[in-house]
Amino acid sequence: MTLFEKIIARQIPADIVFEDDQCLAFRDIAPQAPVHILIVPKKPLERVGAASQADSTLLGHLLFLAAEIARLEKLADGYRIVINNGSNGGETVPHLHVHLLGGRQLAWPPG
Ligand code: 5GP
Repeated sequence: MTLFEKIIARQIPADIVFEDDQCLAFRDIAPQAPVHILIVPKKPLERVGAASQADSTLLGHLLFLAAEIARLEKLADGYRIVINNGSNGGETVPHLHVHLLGGRQLAWPPG
């Protein structure tokens, strides 16, 4: 069971900001911006690179939810959505998650 499956199962506590039948969103334990939320599918898909065609609707839903949660968090000045994929991409938890970052000016390019 991945760390995020344990959070979904309420075996590990998290600061949950949104839930629906397909996804859970909660605050990152080590926030990199004033708002840093992870949006996670309940289905244990390892990473975006492991998605199949059948997951297309779920992937779209994750992005839609990121924008919805950005509205709830009042990030009207802008925000960034990040998906780290694999070791070179900086992925540390092998359960797909979308990072929503906002509340400060974010630099580009990322490190
Ligand atoms: P990744 O590096 O895989 O893209 O992102 C994993 C994220 O999960 C990191 O930003 C990390 O801070 C966050 N994280 C790791 N362990 C926990 C935890 O136990 N609870 C929460 N809320 N976030 C976690």
